[in-house]
Amino acid sequence: MQHLKFINPNLNSAGLPAFEQLSDDDLTKCANNHAWYQAREGIQCERCRNLEVLFVYRDGERTSMSCPCQARRNSLARARRAGLTDLLKRCTFDSFQVKQNWQRVAKTAVQNFVNDEKRGWLLLSGQSGCGKTHLCTAAIGAFIERGQDVHVVRWVNDSTMLKGLSSDTYEREKRLNAFKRASVLLIDDLFKTQSNEKPTSADVRLAYDLLNYRYENRSLITMLSTERTISELKQIDEAIGGRIYEMVKGYCLEIGGGEKNWRFQQQ
Ligand SMILES: [Zn+2]
Repeated sequence: MQHLKFINPNLNSAGLPAFEQLSDDDLTKCANNHAWYQAREGIQCERCRNLEVLFVYRDGERTSMSCPCQARRNSLARARRAGLTDLLKRCTFDSFQVKQNWQRVAKTAVQNFVNDEKRGWLLLSGQSGCGKTHLCTAAIGAFIERGQDVHVVRWVNDSTMLKGLSSDTYEREKRLNAFKRASVLLIDDLFKTQSNEKPTSADVRLAYDLLNYRYENRSLITMLSTERTISELKQIDEAIGGRIYEMVKGYCLEIGGGEKNWRFQQQ
């Protein structure tokens, strides 16, 4: 009866059924019918009333689980800390300008990738200004909407940060593991260097570490944007280029030499 009082102290005087007669669905409804909590990251969730935990009754036993809104709030908080909030608002599939055929092809391919349950990896390759950041951001926004745990590696900043932690193994592994294990990972501007020089061996080791983990854990969703072509990636490192080539089946888009013409690599 302790449980009953917790759910509704007036239950007896209100003449409602005895605790034992309440169905699991009724008990679940009561348990989640608490006061509204503050809306973290501005999300109002009807299911958990912003508590981020759901109480569930199964065979009269109460258990709790994370509400799906929690992963979404965490992804939005990370995006905010990384300064991506405005970009996420601005760069959606709807706001992507489709004036030429290559833009339509690219947009459709990335939308298909988001919805494809049997997807491998996505590679968007091309010079800055070709729209790859917009499309990757739109995909990230769509995955966040679905409550996915999304992380973004901004290669220039994050590779420098991780390499700088080489003497602090604990902190380095903690941060690296968050990227490696994220359900959705975007590596933005992979192997971008100053003046387009060759990536260092430390860069290559870091990229291999990240990508090989995701290669071995294929349910994880991986998106890559880069100014390098897939053959340049192979030249940088055969093992990395080979894994990317194998994983991007159907979702390898390259925009070539100055002309706005997406090449769809079929394998
Ligand atoms: Zn919720």
